[in-house]
Amino acid sequence: MRADAEIDFTVGDPGTGDLDVSWIHGSESAKHNTDPDIQVHAYDEHTYILRQNMAVNYEAPFMFLLFGNARAVLIDTGATASADFFPLRRVVDELMDTWLAAHPRDGYRLLVLHTHPHGDHVAGDAQFAGRPGTVVVDADRDSAWEFFGFTDDADGNLTGGADQSARVDLGGRVLECWPSPGHHDAAVTFYDPHTGFLLTGDTVYPGRLYIQDWPAFVSTIDRLIGFCSTRPVTHVLGCHIEMSREPGVDYPIFTTYQPEEPPLQMTVEQLREIRRAIDEVDGRPGRHPFPGFVLCLDGV
Ligand SMILES: [Zn+2]
Repeated sequence: MRADAEIDFTVGDPGTGDLDVSWIHGSESAKHNTDPDIQVHAYDEHTYILRQNMAVNYEAPFMFLLFGNARAVLIDTGATASADFFPLRRVVDELMDTWLAAHPRDGYRLLVLHTHPHGDHVAGDAQFAGRPGTVVVDADRDSAWEFFGFTDDADGNLTGGADQSARVDLGGRVLECWPSPGHHDAAVTFYDPHTGFLLTGDTVYPGRLYIQDWPAFVSTIDRLIGFCSTRPVTHVLGCHIEMSREPGVDYPIFTTYQPEEPPLQMTVEQLREIRRAIDEVDGRPGRHPFPGFVLCLDGV
């Protein structure tokens, strides 16, 4: 096969990539932290998972860089604006240069999307301003909904139907995306058929699931579970780790050293555990710990 030949992202088994990774997880002394500013993990040749250094920002969010034949997509841009402290643009440029050296093609582009507009997922956006061949879709609901073609009314009801979805074609690698309100009213979930990843942002991850809109969150979890029965989902990947390996015990907010983190990836069965937890909590405000996550509901 010629190096510049089209890659067929539809062949092969999703889930055969590598998630056997030890994530950077901070250090006892942030001042003496020797981790990279951004950890890069290759799941496979066309799929990268990035984690921000916890000493730079305690949120230590994860970001995803997926390559297709025509363009790559970066999902989320981290918690820090400064390219000195958090050189996301440089890291992404290097990864794209390396990928394009192995798979040369003209006019390759970069698309920047987001799981939701919270500050720890969009802070690096400005680093991509003016980058050639790059589209940054702002994470706010109006911009994101316009890009994806989702529609809703003034009250935020999804007039396009609660089941509407969008396809984002990276060139032979077509992501399915859909609105996932609950944690945030502009939250989006992404499914990548090449890896079988379900990218759930801050809606589902091993940590504190902050729920702004309970009925919307319940519907979103139901939709995620329903989706998993229609497609091969290999891993449910959110954007943070806040639990420890001790069931039901999370690291407090602002922690910058988490030596006992569980894996980032969750399972479809854990989505069902969240659904059972929903039934148990039944909309009661407060902090409700479960073995692999904590449901956090604001009081009214
Ligand atoms: Zn977050």
